[in-house]
Amino acid sequence: LTDPLTGLPNRRALFEAADVLAHRSLTQIALPVSVLLFDLDRFKETNDGYGHPVGDRVLGIFASTLRDHFGKGATIARVGGEEFAAILPGADAKAAVEVGEAVRTAFASSASFVDGMAVGGTVSVGVASNLGCDCDLNSLFRQADAALYAAKRAGRNRVELVGPDQGALSEALHATIRTRPERADSDLPVEHSAA
Ligand code: GH3
Ligand code: MG
Ligand code: MG
Repeated sequence: LTDPLTGLPNRRALFEAADVLAHRSLTQIALPVSVLLFDLDRFKETNDGYGHPVGDRVLGIFASTLRDHFGKGATIARVGGEEFAAILPGADAKAAVEVGEAVRTAFASSASFVDGMAVGGTVSVGVASNLGCDCDLNSLFRQADAALYAAKRAGRNRVELVGPDQGALSEALHATIRTRPERADSDLPVEHSAA
C-alpha cells in the first residue's frame, strides 16, 4: 500500500480510501468532497536533461510538498510515475483550488533548483468538486482528469477546475473555470473502484 520511492500511499491505497469514503458518504448527508490530480510537467525532459536520480529527487520533493499541504483528513497518493492524487473530504471547489494553487507555487519554488541544478520543476493540477453536482468519486476523478488535461493544454504550471460554483472562485487563483462536461467518454486515467 506504500510507494517505496516517496513513502506515500500508492494507487491501491487510494482506491481503498475512496471505497471507505464512498461508504461513509452513504450515511452522511451531503458530504462535500473534492478530488485533485497532479502531473509533473515535462518530467521526461527532467530525466533526459539531468538524469534519472535527479528525477527521483524531484518526485521526493513533490511528495514532501503534498505532505506539507494536506492534513490528516485528506488522502494523498502516488498513482503513477509522475502522477499524484488527493481526495479532500470537506473541501468545496474554492478550498480545493486554493490548496492546489498552494501546492503548485510551493513546488515551483522548491523544485526550481535541485542539487544546484536549474531543474525548474513545475506541476499541473486538475480539480473537481461535488457541490452542486450529484457526482460520485468516479465521476469526480474523471472530471479532475479533464481539468488536468485542460491545464496541460493551456500551457502547464497551472490549476484548472471543472465544477459548478464558478462564482465562488477569485480571479486571483488564476484558475480557468470550465463548465462541467456532459459526461466524459474518455477512459478513466485513474481507475477507481468507488461508486
Ligand atoms: P507532460 O508535461 O505532458 O506531463 O510531459 P511529461 O514529460 O511529464 O510526460 P510523459 O508521460 O511523457 O513522461 C513521464 C515521465 O516520467 C516518463 C518516465 O520516464 C518518468 N518516470 C516515471 N516514473 C519515474 C520514476 O520513478 N523516476 C523517474 N526518475 N522518472 C519516472
Ligand atoms: Mg503523466
Ligand atoms: Mg507529466
